[in-house]
This record gives sequence, C-alpha cells and structure tokens, in this order.
Amino acid sequence: MPAPVQIPLKDAHSHHARHISSKNATKTDFLSSSPTLIIASGESPVASSPSSTIIAETIALARDHLDHSNTEELLNFDDDLSDDSQISNVAEDYVFGFDIDGVLIRGGHVIPEAKEALRLLNGENEEGIKVPYIFLTNGGGKTEQERCLDLTKQLDVAVSPEQFICGHTPMSEMATQYETVLVVGGEGEKCRHVAENYGFKDVITPGDLIKWKPSVCPFRKLTDEEYTNSRTRDFTNMNIEAIFVFADSRDWASDAQIILELLMSKEGRMSTVSETFDEGPPIFFAHNDVVWSTAYDLTRYGMGALRIMIEALYKESTGKSIDVTSYGKPSKATFDYATRVLQQWRKDLFSDPAPPQTVYFVGDTPESDIRGSNEYDKHSESDWFSILVETGVYEPGTEPRYKPKKTVANVLEAVKFGMERERRKRIQRGISLGSIGK
Ligand SMILES: [Mg+2]
Repeated sequence: MPAPVQIPLKDAHSHHARHISSKNATKTDFLSSSPTLIIASGESPVASSPSSTIIAETIALARDHLDHSNTEELLNFDDDLSDDSQISNVAEDYVFGFDIDGVLIRGGHVIPEAKEALRLLNGENEEGIKVPYIFLTNGGGKTEQERCLDLTKQLDVAVSPEQFICGHTPMSEMATQYETVLVVGGEGEKCRHVAENYGFKDVITPGDLIKWKPSVCPFRKLTDEEYTNSRTRDFTNMNIEAIFVFADSRDWASDAQIILELLMSKEGRMSTVSETFDEGPPIFFAHNDVVWSTAYDLTRYGMGALRIMIEALYKESTGKSIDVTSYGKPSKATFDYATRVLQQWRKDLFSDPAPPQTVYFVGDTPESDIRGSNEYDKHSESDWFSILVETGVYEPGTEPRYKPKKTVANVLEAVKFGMERERRKRIQRGISLGSIGK
C-alpha cells in the first residue's frame, strides 16, 4: 500500500479504477496511487469482460476510499455504485478470503483448481452470482502491486493490488514513528523499495552495513551487484531506531549477526554494547510462520523460525528475554484491516455500513490461517468460517493443531462448499419469509 498521497479529485471520484493489461504493465504504472486493476491478458476472453472485473474493481475503490478517508477533502465520495447494473448480481452477505501460498499457488506454480475457483466467484456459476474476495497473505518481500501482477498472470483473472493484505501491510502505519530503520529479508533491494514505498524516510539494509565494514559479517561476501546496490554510509554516529523483518531472510547467519548486535546495542548504534540490555531498538516481524510449503516434499523453515533463533541467542547472550512484535496471520491487526476493507466495500455498494455476515477464510496452515480466523471469529461481528485445504502445509489425515470448521481437498472445493452453504441459507430464508406471509 503506498503512503497516503493526495490524489486528484477527478480520479478519486471516478467510478472506475485504472485498467492495465498484465501483458504490458510496467513499474511506472504503479507509481500512481490511484486504484488500479490488472486485467489478465491470457487465453480467456471472459477474464477481461466488464462483469468479471466488477469484484476487483469495487474492492479497489473501497480500499482507496478507506486509505484516504483521513483526508478531509476526499471524504464525500459521490460515486454511487449502487445504480450500476453490473452489481445487481453481487452477493451482499458473504465474501471469501484466501491465503495464497499453499492455496492458490504452490512452489511458484498455480494450483490447478485455483483458476476455476476464482471463475466461479466471478460469476461463472449457475446463478450468475458474483462473490467478492480478498487475499490475506503472510508472504511478502514484494510490493502488493508486484504480487498482484504475478497472480493476474498465473490465475488468468483480473486482480487489483487493493485486494491484497500482506503481513507487512500494517507496518506502513509506523513510517511516521521511526526515521532511520533497518529492513531485513527478501530478494536484493526489493524490501528497501517496499519500505520506501510505505513512506519510511531512511531505510538501511544489512548490505549497507556490510559495505561499510565487511568485518561485521566475516563470512559474507557481497556479490558485485549487491555491492553496487548497497549504499555507502558511515554508521559510526548513526542510531538505527527500529528493525523490520519484511520478508524471509536470504542469509540467516549475517542477518542474525546484525540484528542481535543492534538489539544488544546502545540505542541502535553499531559497535556499541548496552550494559543493561534494554536500550536496543524494537524489532517487528511481518509474520510468525515457522514453516512454509514450497515445491519440495517437506515444509521449510521461515520467518517464525528466525524469530525463535533470535530470541534464543538473545537470551543466551544477555540472560534476558526480548520483546518481539509479529504481524500477519494469526495476529488481529491483519484481520482488523481486512474487516475495514470489506466494510467499506459494502458501504460503497449497498449503502450498508455493517461488515459482511460471513467471511469464508480458506488457508493451508492451521497455526496461522485457521487459528487466526477462529480467534478473530470470537470477537467479530461477522462469522469467520475457517476452511482448511490439503494442498499446502497441512498434512492430510493428521490432526491439525487448530481445528477448522471445514476441511476440503482444495480451493475449488472450498468455494463450492461456501457457495452451496449460502444457497441453502437463501432457500431457508425464502421458506421462512413465505411462512410469515401465510
Ligand atoms: Mg499458506
């Protein structure tokens, strides 16, 4: 999510998001902060028809309204979508939320049933009903825009960056709080760009520190490309105010070395050691998933495992425990943000400020997806209905640590189940309304 930027009223009041084809979308297309829709340029002509883009489009506009609602001038949107004939068949009461890795994508490849699942939601079903959906993913290391472009190409369906809520999305709210920050994880310079895109003013990477003094990490040699991209800075008199782990570390040894030095330092200054071990900067992780699924047969260790390692080494070195903040699923912040987007969406479309009655949340990891959804359900106005799929982390036949309300083979079965459950609810309501009439 880009930092809230004043957008021209002309754009804010438009009925439509900008449409960009996935075939020729470029980086500069994403520099504008106006809501954007990436249209699939694949084989299916249906994917770019107006009726199949309405879900992505209306969510893009709702998220834009939400993100700019603190800007007084933009408070009164007069685009009344409710008179749009395209929304006549959009489901009002229920929505889907999807985890991405292990549900729609696995090891960089699309899960075969995923395309049909999204086509069903986009109206290619017997009743022609269109059902809104958003993506809640802990995976990060790319901007929401880049993830959106990847997914549009892979799934052959129109998607908007505004439909994505990543683990690191809520971190953007801290850009005003901390000035000089260390950003860890991800490929190359990508996370530096994500952080700068969020509005962080002075973003340092482990590469910058190694370029300053290679002896900080004695076994690490920057490649030529890394050396060129890393910035030349003097850290002798600089305080690093906070540490943000945006995405999975590509080099645990040197990242852990640097993180631990800063946590034990005097006010985030390199080459210092606190005597009391309570002067270091705070540390934030984009999520807390200990393992994740790849193309390999078994799960692999991820960011949550790095957190455990940092905590253990900090304790070993100082005798003290370190306070760590983790975002993403199962943390409440992520689900709160999703609820606000869905609520705004219903307000825009149906002039109803209540959140949807039911959110079907489909995930593959009991510890984050199912746990987060179930816990959120206890306090939420909406009914968060957790569905576990067998295409990712969860090992079919085993007892999951957190029990879903439903377990199905794959994402297509999850969508069919939820839509059928809603169809029955409608019939039930119809029957009870009929009997009142008698
Ligand atoms: Mg997953």
